[in-house]
Amino acid sequence: MKPLIIQINPQDNVAIIANDGGLLAGTEVGVGLILRDSVPQGHKVALVDIPSDAPVLRYGIPIGYALKEIPAGSWVHERLLKMPAARDLDNLPMATVTPNPLPPLEGYSFEGYRNADGSVGTRNLLAITTTVQCVAGVVDLAVHRIKQELLPQFPHVDDVVGLEHAYGCGVAIDAEGAEIPIRTLRNISLNPNFGGEVMVVSLGCEKLQPERLMPAGSIPINDQRGEALDVVCLQNEAHVGFMSMLASIVEQARQHLERLNKRRRETVPASELVVGVQCGGSDAFSGLTANPAVGFCSDLLVRTGASVMFSEVTEVRDAIDQLTARAVNSQVAQAIVDQMAWYDSYLARGRVDRSANTTPGNKRGGLSNIVEKAMGSIVKSGTAPIQAVLAPGERLKQKGLTFAATPASDFICGTLQVAAGMNLHIFTTGRGTPYGLAPVPVVKVATRTDLARRWHDLIDINAGRIADGQKSIDEVGWELFHYLLDVASGRKKTYAEQWKLHNALVLFNPAPVT
Ligand code: CA
Repeated sequence: MKPLIIQINPQDNVAIIANDGGLLAGTEVGVGLILRDSVPQGHKVALVDIPSDAPVLRYGIPIGYALKEIPAGSWVHERLLKMPAARDLDNLPMATVTPNPLPPLEGYSFEGYRNADGSVGTRNLLAITTTVQCVAGVVDLAVHRIKQELLPQFPHVDDVVGLEHAYGCGVAIDAEGAEIPIRTLRNISLNPNFGGEVMVVSLGCEKLQPERLMPAGSIPINDQRGEALDVVCLQNEAHVGFMSMLASIVEQARQHLERLNKRRRETVPASELVVGVQCGGSDAFSGLTANPAVGFCSDLLVRTGASVMFSEVTEVRDAIDQLTARAVNSQVAQAIVDQMAWYDSYLARGRVDRSANTTPGNKRGGLSNIVEKAMGSIVKSGTAPIQAVLAPGERLKQKGLTFAATPASDFICGTLQVAAGMNLHIFTTGRGTPYGLAPVPVVKVATRTDLARRWHDLIDINAGRIADGQKSIDEVGWELFHYLLDVASGRKKTYAEQWKLHNALVLFNPAPVT
């Protein structure tokens, strides 16, 4: 087996061992460089002697400082590194290196569903919104019946989705931060893939009353038709027995399904794509293969005029100076700082910081700490100027690249990106996760060929071919771009869709529960 090591930046004093299974001590990995230790795949080897206290450089920046002298050829793992402190939020470079707008990329389109509010869906789904967890069991059974009894009559509707969640009652609904789960839920109901057909199932006595969740004027399609909010209330006196509740939900669903079933796909420009990117189960290859390919694809999307969101505050916190510098103007740079400052104080309430992010799997995969993870994570955002910033649960209004501030938690980030209005989701993974979402197609990109081979019916795109030397970052980026257009058009289904692998919607509620 030919030793394969990858150095990202010429300044780096470490490189990654790329071979499957790692390499044994004594292996010559470069001219005069012999491994002193056995090094697992994805882990770092010292290219030169690194003195005690000297910076360990990856991506050209210090990911840590040597706790003792590290001789060339050593395995550089997290126990040898002292993590740098988080960058202060004062005196950051604000919109100092804003890149020029990328050259337009024209002539790309997909087949999508146009909505009354101007957004475009990639799927035609009936969503049933719930105000409170109390109704979840009833809605679950109702959805099951709708799928069995009604859906076959409406062949142009792809599926029925119950929007179950843990919020709605037993919560301090007027506390600071409570607006986040409420607007998240509201904006999820308005996701482009639901066609503007909002129906709500409520218990009756809950704190989150239907009118508070969906105030008058929040549903564009209802305004056009002069319709009131469609609510099935389980405590309504008209309901006698459980079957009566189910019958009400099924009957209301029929009306929405009839309208959804009349919709047809039409050719729309690629600029109507709203793509959320995130990673989960990252390893040291994430920043070498999958994330750079996604970053290349993100630039292609921005060039078509599409919207791209990147997120995960704790995974970009250590690259804050790169983000503020790339902002389109100082207001956007300040909005990035404000979101980071809010999150710093949120974490401080639990007496932790961004270093609480990394998982045992990240470390086994070769990521020593959050700084190293962040430098690999941020490349998903490509090179475009950052046009806008969203607070958690807000809906996107802007084309181009947006920083949507969310936790890095896969399901919470995905839920907030659904609320922001994404109609396609790109998810990169190194360790592997079967992640999927019911409202939006999820395209999974593997960082390593070994994972793509073992999870051949879960991973959609194998970016590990970049580390294998078979494909370039650009080639995988283009492949992903074309695949996205096929998935958006319904010509292809992702593995998560084929298997109906759907993670729960998980609302971000920083406010107290009662
Ligand atoms: Ca994540």
